[in-house]
Amino acid sequence: MVDYGINYWANDDFIIEDGKVKVNFCNKPALIDIVKQVREEGYRGPLLVRFPHLIKKQVEKIFSHFENSIKEYHYKGKFKAVFPIKVNHFPNFILPLMEQTQNRCYGLEAGSKSELIIAMAYTNENAPITVNGFKDKEMISLGFIAAKMGHDITLTIEGLNELETIIEVSKSMGKPYPNIGLRIRLHSTGVGIWAKSGGINSKFGLTATELVEAIYLLKKNKLLDKFTMIHFHIGSQISDIAPLKKALREAGNIYAELRKMGAKNLNNVNIGGGLAVEYTQYEAHQNRNYTLGEFSGNVIFTLKEIAKNKKEPEPNIFIESGRYVSANHAVLISPVLELFSQEYDEKALHLKEKNPPLVEELLDLYNTIDERSAIEYLHDSLEHMESLLTLFDLGYIDLQDRSNTEVLVHLIIKKVIKILKHKNHSDIIRIQEQVQERYLLNCSFFQSLPDYWGLKQNFPVIPLDRLNKRPTRSASLWDITCDSDGEIAFDKNYPLFLHDIDVNSEEYFLGFFLVGAYQEVLGMRHNLFTHPTELSVVFNQEEGSFEIENLLEAQTILDVLDDLDFDTKEIERRLKQKLDESEEIPQDEKKEVLGQLYVMLSENGYLRTVFKSQGEV
Ligand SMILES: *Cc1c(COP(=O)(O)O)cnc(C)c1O
Repeated sequence: MVDYGINYWANDDFIIEDGKVKVNFCNKPALIDIVKQVREEGYRGPLLVRFPHLIKKQVEKIFSHFENSIKEYHYKGKFKAVFPIKVNHFPNFILPLMEQTQNRCYGLEAGSKSELIIAMAYTNENAPITVNGFKDKEMISLGFIAAKMGHDITLTIEGLNELETIIEVSKSMGKPYPNIGLRIRLHSTGVGIWAKSGGINSKFGLTATELVEAIYLLKKNKLLDKFTMIHFHIGSQISDIAPLKKALREAGNIYAELRKMGAKNLNNVNIGGGLAVEYTQYEAHQNRNYTLGEFSGNVIFTLKEIAKNKKEPEPNIFIESGRYVSANHAVLISPVLELFSQEYDEKALHLKEKNPPLVEELLDLYNTIDERSAIEYLHDSLEHMESLLTLFDLGYIDLQDRSNTEVLVHLIIKKVIKILKHKNHSDIIRIQEQVQERYLLNCSFFQSLPDYWGLKQNFPVIPLDRLNKRPTRSASLWDITCDSDGEIAFDKNYPLFLHDIDVNSEEYFLGFFLVGAYQEVLGMRHNLFTHPTELSVVFNQEEGSFEIENLLEAQTILDVLDDLDFDTKEIERRLKQKLDESEEIPQDEKKEVLGQLYVMLSENGYLRTVFKSQGEV
């Protein structure tokens, strides 16, 4: 795999050219050059790079596909969409999203009071706001305030008690009222690891009996004319289109039946989110079995059929896709700090005058190995290593012998891989499983790829350069947290191969793609590693250039401690006092040490390893 499956996951957002990953837009800069430019300013550690033009690209894709399907089927309803804020709350995402979609009927979806405040502040004029999730009286009142500000807002009711609160609030707050939506509980379920959002046992939505009761309550309180939308959401990352079609048929029929019960202003069907992102790097493991065109075609066709059969108007269609809109806009870039077997070079070998026979044997294998004998000698050396380790446990060889064993076996492995690298040897693959190289990355998977930790969601990973050279080492990836879960282990079903580099003289960066949905706010500060330094790459198409904007450095150590409610003044005071009282540090050096401490407190906590030849990583 030399192209790291870029044709499956990259959607032409990124391409490989001249051995580098490049942004496939405008003047097509290489990611590695962007990274170097930022690092020249002194920023170290991981970077989260955002590409606002990709946000626009995704929204446009959704609208153009639905508009095409609407044309194709002569559908009479309109298409509208909202972005569910929970998928990415960050201003450097939300602001460009709203700015670049002003020409569309594209708004925001809120699921909490804080999100609703963001929606009220930033939704474009005439674009819709929808509100889902559990609501108290205060949140419902906030919805009424938004309506009075002129927002086109729909409060989606998750249960009858919320409807009762709306009725209560409407009596005290007066008109204009927000629109009311009802979340329906479908008997058809979603699929995949996020399936719990749909189905009869789902956390959300009204059953048929509750819907009938809701219509009765709305009628009785003269609010039925504000009931304009039904809503469902079958779960995130819908891998198979069949359950969606089933859900659409069910929802379409509920829509028609509710209209027949007198809900004459019900004219929107909100189909939720769930449009899947293709994360795979491997042809055999694709995440979704449909295209966007198939998706939009199915939605329009199904709702048209039902409207026709039940003689009701064709409803407007709302969608709330979040993952599909935001995932591709952000790339996490992490420097490689270390290759664990790197210390095993010939210099590390300290052979004795007289070595144990098996060590002598290893040395002989190393010196005489050639293409013909490579696999056989490799097997022999792994066997010898097992025997030598047993001899160590039994007390027959010493630590120096054991070290020589480790070094020799690593040297043999490297030599075999080098000798055979032009071959696609199945044995080599098998051997690589046993002898992976461990790449230590200057980032935290808990902070930057939480869904890998929590759900084993894989994100495409690719080195930013050297892509015209065949990668020779099977790789497992380690982050810098001291948690053994901070590892992406080598998996023979999803093998990752990386380049054999010498970190003392070369820089090597890995990019993790499609990290713009959910990862940022779910990221946790395990070991107190904060969000990485982030920046946006904004293109100027006329000039064929780009600017780096919104550069936001990772939080400093003091800020992190402050967030945890430590009294940072107290921390500084205690450190200073301990320094003053220390008898180990000479009086005239104390000031300098204190200065060093203060500098460190005002930097972020990622590593700043220094290599002689290369500077900080
Ligand atoms: C989370 C959520 C979405 C977004 O789902 P994606 O899979 O990210 O598209 C949409 N609607 C509701 C109600 C949600 O809870």
